[in-house]
Amino acid sequence: MPWYSEEQIEEVRSRSDIVSVIGRYVRLKRTGSGYTGLCPFHNEKTQSFHVNPARQMYKCFGCGVGGNVLTFVMEYENLTFPEAMEMLAEQAGIDLPKQEMTAQQKQQTQHDQRTKHTGQNDHPASSLHFFL
Ligand code: ZN
Repeated sequence: MPWYSEEQIEEVRSRSDIVSVIGRYVRLKRTGSGYTGLCPFHNEKTQSFHVNPARQMYKCFGCGVGGNVLTFVMEYENLTFPEAMEMLAEQAGIDLPKQEMTAQQKQQTQHDQRTKHTGQNDHPASSLHFFL
């Protein structure tokens, strides 16, 4: 399993435009400073899925999901974090060196991803400041 540094993650994230990545999956409509669309993570008729290009974040006010471009492709495509990194890096034309994790790094990353992941949905109220 490859391992990526914070710098590599940041590079992939900053060079992947969240609007064009999500726009491939969701029909987005420009509204003011952001974009809205039908949430791909729950069934809805009103558009409560918001993408904020300034912050490079997305947020659904219907089901509470939210995150950045990497968490979007992970959740939508059901990818692991390294798989999402590879996919976005390839699309952005970034050459990611493959590195193998030590057992300790692997454990730490899995722990980080789990806590980050569940942390998002456990506190939908904390995301209310998203657009403020
Ligand atoms: Zn939703």
